[in-house]
Amino acid sequence: MIYSEDDFISISALAHFLYCNRRCALIHIEQIWTENLFTAEGRIMHEHVHQEGYESRGNIYTEHGVPLKSLRLGLIGKADLIEFHLLDKEKRQPYPVEYKRGKPKKDNSDKVQLCAQAICLEEMQYVDIPEGALYYGKNRRRQTVIFDNALREETAKTAERVHVLINSGITPAAVYSQKCDSCSLFEICMPKVINRKQTVEKYLRSMQRP
Ligand code: SF4
Repeated sequence: MIYSEDDFISISALAHFLYCNRRCALIHIEQIWTENLFTAEGRIMHEHVHQEGYESRGNIYTEHGVPLKSLRLGLIGKADLIEFHLLDKEKRQPYPVEYKRGKPKKDNSDKVQLCAQAICLEEMQYVDIPEGALYYGKNRRRQTVIFDNALREETAKTAERVHVLINSGITPAAVYSQKCDSCSLFEICMPKVINRKQTVEKYLRSMQRP
């Protein structure tokens, strides 16, 4: 399937969706965003890395804040950093690197986000990108991510599901779990209060009724 640019969704929506589909809907359907300490630290880190520009060190040439899009997955976004590893005078291998504030997650959300960046780059530059890396601020380590078929399939499937969710315009019900405690939308989402399929807007309106 080929998406039109009007239907593009943000690459970051994939990671939000895998973290919690209600969080994805709150941000990308209801346009709600609040910050807590974690997201503020993450935002500052990304703003720093995203400053557009390039540099060259040895056989590696790097570009920051690279615009990305994929017609096939209907995605748009920006890469923190793309390294270009010079293989010979003619050939350079793109290698996406995504910066994360915390530590490696148990779920695949960061890997899917990085893989989506690689798929965009492959489509834009007609290249194959076999791997990239996630850099975690907590342990200051890089984790190599291999873009194998399973991860590519999961990324494409997630993009498809996010398109369906956003097109539906329906915010899924809140289901309280441990991850809610570190979610920046906890106060607005009210996962312990709202347990039916309703938007935050509807809930707030119902609360205002006499
Ligand atoms: S508080 Fe919990 S249910 Fe609500 S958006 Fe965050 S993670 Fe999802």
